[in-house]
Amino acid sequence: MNRAQMSSQERELRSKLNRIIASGEMVRGDLAIIYKKCTTADCGCHKGEQKHPSLYLRVGSGKGRKQYYIPKSRQEEAYQWLARYREAKEILKELSDIYIAKLREG
Ligand SMILES: [Zn+2]
Repeated sequence: MNRAQMSSQERELRSKLNRIIASGEMVRGDLAIIYKKCTTADCGCHKGEQKHPSLYLRVGSGKGRKQYYIPKSRQEEAYQWLARYREAKEILKELSDIYIAKLREG
């Protein structure tokens, strides 16, 4: 891969991707707030009152899908890391489109 041979669009996407990757952690999946009963037997949630919201990261789909509880102290980061992953993925997709076109040129 010769940098001089890259299109300006390609160079721009690559440096953007590098910046995103260098800026911190990344996680894939989606974040969902799920309401659950707690373990305190006399809590209102066991008597029909509102259940407790918890944040979960859901990764994968179908039978292989996994769900991870995100502690309160990490919730803000979870959203940031997910956004970073999605941004990087979007740029990878654009780069892939460029290279598909290149492959098809022969
Ligand atoms: Zn409860």
